Amino acid sequence: MESLGKQKSGNTMAAMNNKSVYFFAAGETEGNAKMKDILGGKGANLAEMTAIGVPVPPGFTISTEICAAYNQNNQKLPVPVAAAVEEALARVEKKIGKKFGDKENPLLVSVRSGARASMPGMMDTILNLGLNDDTVEGLAKKSGNPRFAWDSYRRFVQMYSDVVMGMNSSLLEVALEDMKDEKGYKLDTEMTADDLKALTKKFKTQVLESTGQKFPSDPKEQLWGAIGAVFRSWNTPRAIAYRGLHAIPEAWGTAVNVQSMVFGNMGDDSATGVAFSRNPSTGENMFYGEWLVNAQGEDVVAGIRTPNNITAAEAKLAKMPGTSLEEKMPNLFKELVEIYHKLEKHYKDMQDMEFTIEQGKLWMLQTRNGKRTARAALRIACDMIDEGMIDEKTALSRIEAKSLDQLLHPTLDPKAKKTLLAKALPASPGGACGQIVFTSEEAVELKEKGIKTILTRVETSPEDILGMVAAQGILTSRGGMTSHAAVVARGMGKCCVAGAGDVQIDYVKKEMRVAGYVLRQGEIITLDGSTGEVYLGEVKTVEPELDAVFERVMKLADKYRTLKVRANADTPKDATMARSFGAEGIGLCRTEHMFFGADRITAMREMIVAESKAEREDALEKLLPMQRHDFIELFKTMKGYPVTIRLLDPPLHEFVPHTDSETKELAGKIGVDYDKLRMRVKGLHEFNPMLGHRGCRLAITYPEIYIMQTRAIAEAAAELIKGGMTLTPEIMIPLVSIDVELERLRDLADKEVKAVQKETGVSFKYTIGTMIELPRACVTADEIAAQADFFSFGTNDLTQTTLGLSRDDASRFLGTYVSEGIYKTDPFVTIDQDGVGKLVKTAVDLGRRAKKDLKVGICGEHGGDPESIVFFHGVGLDYVSCSPYRVPIARLAAAQAALAQPTVGGGTH
Ligand code: ADP
Ligand code: MG
Ligand code: MG
Repeated sequence: MESLGKQKSGNTMAAMNNKSVYFFAAGETEGNAKMKDILGGKGANLAEMTAIGVPVPPGFTISTEICAAYNQNNQKLPVPVAAAVEEALARVEKKIGKKFGDKENPLLVSVRSGARASMPGMMDTILNLGLNDDTVEGLAKKSGNPRFAWDSYRRFVQMYSDVVMGMNSSLLEVALEDMKDEKGYKLDTEMTADDLKALTKKFKTQVLESTGQKFPSDPKEQLWGAIGAVFRSWNTPRAIAYRGLHAIPEAWGTAVNVQSMVFGNMGDDSATGVAFSRNPSTGENMFYGEWLVNAQGEDVVAGIRTPNNITAAEAKLAKMPGTSLEEKMPNLFKELVEIYHKLEKHYKDMQDMEFTIEQGKLWMLQTRNGKRTARAALRIACDMIDEGMIDEKTALSRIEAKSLDQLLHPTLDPKAKKTLLAKALPASPGGACGQIVFTSEEAVELKEKGIKTILTRVETSPEDILGMVAAQGILTSRGGMTSHAAVVARGMGKCCVAGAGDVQIDYVKKEMRVAGYVLRQGEIITLDGSTGEVYLGEVKTVEPELDAVFERVMKLADKYRTLKVRANADTPKDATMARSFGAEGIGLCRTEHMFFGADRITAMREMIVAESKAEREDALEKLLPMQRHDFIELFKTMKGYPVTIRLLDPPLHEFVPHTDSETKELAGKIGVDYDKLRMRVKGLHEFNPMLGHRGCRLAITYPEIYIMQTRAIAEAAAELIKGGMTLTPEIMIPLVSIDVELERLRDLADKEVKAVQKETGVSFKYTIGTMIELPRACVTADEIAAQADFFSFGTNDLTQTTLGLSRDDASRFLGTYVSEGIYKTDPFVTIDQDGVGKLVKTAVDLGRRAKKDLKVGICGEHGGDPESIVFFHGVGLDYVSCSPYRVPIARLAAAQAALAQPTVGGGTH
């Protein structure tokens, strides 16, 4: 995959392929599951399901290629496409014996969007299209159910006026609520045919008033309007935001599915629901889902009514026995179970399905590989290996490496004292704590100020996406496990508790009432997304415990990967964590972090402000034993695994006091005149410290610093080796730009190690290498390799210096660069393959040409980024090094890289 470069067009097929509409109906299906690029995921799977004999209402799919054509063609369908649509519509009519727009026996359709990648709730679907004042009568008569006909009609007016005509849908929602209040109804289902008829009329008047446009009564006009709206919806802000978050290219476009309607709202023998072939939260191999009697499509997902469980077991658990599909409609349940088995066997993956029951007949409306939590992904992958459904390699490639993050995050301390406020649905696991906010805007605002929030809503909708990203966790008072909040939070790996019916939210007063408390905006609550519990105040969190399934997947990853994985760790504590996550060494120990401890900062400062070499050496003398101790502890923790220690890197001013009072205090402590000290501190100021007196340049001017550090490393090693440990210290010199720097400093370090070896009488192997983090070092890597035993790419600095970007200042424009597609991704997150990556590759090639067995790794942030890891594997690095928490991610990503490119990569080390 290219990195920074502009998006390559996704739809180059349009020119070659004239077919724009693909029909699907039993025995006449033109598409299949492999055609996701042009049919979208939904369309491709509707075709596939039809082809394998699953009951699907007939319809057709307009290809994704037409989306761009439509949007570029002044938002008009090209003429041949319109003709193809008419033709396909006629085929649907013939297939089911109804006619579009017919007064006696009208065909109604849904118009559904569907891109290559699933974008839940992002694109709008219109149901019951084809209804008008005439056809509604036909529908009423034909079905013998006027209430159903008018319910369908008013829903259609609501959806169409919102999606196609741009009407603010809450106006109609208010009219609906008013009518219910007036009549004293609690549920939508209590409304009579006459109520709904009156309501529809009222809706249409309101549409005219508020949009200035008459609601279209011509079904064809409705159809063209809806198709256009789906294509346009590809470019709505919420679709764009979702695409940005999930790196979905704009060029892909969406397909449009036009499908004959089946009705779940025809009475108590009708229903609608969503189901997963396995539990999407735990991965348990148990059918799981939610359904509603006498309801249509979105009712389940939108959280308008809280749905019931599909299986009797789940209903019992939820203390709602007797409400399940299994108990209410056992035959249809059986049929659904057979279908889900068939689909899972066919797709060899967990399925997320939508179905509708129309007067006792089951129809499938969608299937796709289900989204799942990381925990579920691991469990499903392992179970499916054991069931013989997939092989190990497939199992590994299924697990999204980044998602392991979810398992590595803290959970609530089970022993902490807690005040339970409510218990609701465990919609997305993990613990989260923060201030209550009631709007997404507030979540975003507070996030910018560094304040943690819990986004608390009655329900969420796609408009809330940025607020959901900003918040620590999400709490909703309505909706089920498949509600928008639940699905989106799971996708993000964000803690979510949904459907907390006991929580009363008052947006106007900005408060919520629960368990006798009145909590105002800004007060703190804690969520446990794994149990669905809501607690008052802040609850302590504990580190995650990784289970056997996790270990099994990690072992499997280790079996297939060739890249080694190390961790960046500066302290024994980090190192312990890194080892527990499976790090095979430390790729970067930043020694500067050791100088900030209260016991050493003064000595460090004394060294920095020293005026002569002798004074500097005195101060360094004090630091030596502390450094030695640090290294002993670190080596001990790492039990012989390799440890790369980087000598001092940051500019010295980072260590000196920043305020006058601190300077005064220091002057007293080290017995230096205050004014003199102040001037010295001032003198350390640099205009551009990242390009200033730092890295190996420090040691070119003050060699004694590196001498002391080298001695500390060597003495630590000697002591432990004497005690029987095996270890090979790796000394790393940062920010080298020219071979002469390394030649000199290597010599200096060599001499010091040798001196220690002689003094202690312990001889041991050690290596001296360099960080490659400047473009000049990359292009002269052959010369530098002559002086180095190893290279470690410092891709953070290399990205800064290659792109001329300061990572501290880039935030002002980097967002724009990414959102406008100038950079495909943030180059500090995912390596810029065409630029920085090219330098890396050059340096690897030059370096290995000069020294065949040069060991090469990377220790920048990119070492924990799955996409970058694929690249590093490809250029043949020996290892990546990343923060401890990302080690498991890197292990899996390295295996996936090896499976995708088995012949490259994997050095000799
Ligand atoms: P989304 O991508 O947001 O899930 P869908 O196109 O799947 O949107 O449709 C929204 C809802 O409408 C779903 O519950 C779906 O099952 C239902 N639906 C779509 N088409 C039909 C149809 N032809 N008959 C009955 N229900 C439908
Ligand atoms: Mg759907
Ligand atoms: Mg650096």
